[in-house]
Amino acid sequence: MSDRRKFLKSSVSAVSVIPMIACKAENGNSVLSQEVVKPALISTWNHGIVANNAAWKILGDNGKAIDAVEAGVRLTESDPTGQSVGIGGRPDMNGDVTLDACIMNEKGDCGSVAYLKNIEHPISVARQVMEETPHVMLVGDGAKQFALEKGHPEINLLTDQSKQEWQKWLESERKVLPKINVENHDTIGLLALDSHGDLSGACTTSGAAWKLPGRVGDSPIIGAGLYVDNEVGGATATGWGEAVIRAVGCFLVVELMRQGNSAQRACELAVERVISKNPDWREIQVGFIALSKDGNYGGYCIQPGFDYAVQTANLDNQMIKSGSRI
Ligand code: ASP
Repeated sequence: MSDRRKFLKSSVSAVSVIPMIACKAENGNSVLSQEVVKPALISTWNHGIVANNAAWKILGDNGKAIDAVEAGVRLTESDPTGQSVGIGGRPDMNGDVTLDACIMNEKGDCGSVAYLKNIEHPISVARQVMEETPHVMLVGDGAKQFALEKGHPEINLLTDQSKQEWQKWLESERKVLPKINVENHDTIGLLALDSHGDLSGACTTSGAAWKLPGRVGDSPIIGAGLYVDNEVGGATATGWGEAVIRAVGCFLVVELMRQGNSAQRACELAVERVISKNPDWREIQVGFIALSKDGNYGGYCIQPGFDYAVQTANLDNQMIKSGSRI
């Protein structure tokens, strides 16, 4: 029996597939759902598999969604081979790795850090901003000072691999816009529904490669790179952050679910909105994933090549190829 199956068997008390049926959307539409599936997890890109595994251990033990999403993405932040999140992230045009992250819990509390240097776990700093300060967002030197005061060690985030790629970029025509769907890249966003029926989300990234110093993308912006509403669902984004910010993408996905759209349909409609706000949409990638209150999930993007990892009470952890507009 695979470890995964053993785990499912041994954690069966925390897993439920509850038949349920209708809820009324605000527009009066009835939204039919076959069942409530919980726990459930969805996360962006290949690195989502490892993150889901860590998050699932917590959810399977009746743990909280907020703990699951933090634990999951911390693994991605610590992986030096991932060149788009945490250690090993590709630097800005000056060669500095700067990190952005945010987190949101079932109460609607949120915390965020942006332009954070030399700290391994921006997601945990974001959680501390949420839980231990009256603020939502800390940036730059202030965020770093806060992280150091909270006991996060100062470390070098620039790996030899990313340094070499940056040096190569310096010798090239120096384009800031990253290539679409390069292997082994992009933000991790992780959404969780726990066995108590509560939702949380986390999003963490090193942002666009070779960006202008000071640039902050969508990932730490509540409503753009991540949004969670415990009555409805959550959404997170990946891709060209400037385009996501223009559409306030993840808030839009959640509001579309509130209006009665499935998680899948909400992602599709949000991609259409991004397209309508960004005349250069054929040159960029943007992808959304969403998880609704009943464990229904979906994902959609502009360019082919985006995929996401899903694990639910009735689905083993696996990659799902996203539908795309092009
Ligand atoms: N959305 C991130 C940003 O723009 C990067 C990515 O997901 O590729 O910073």
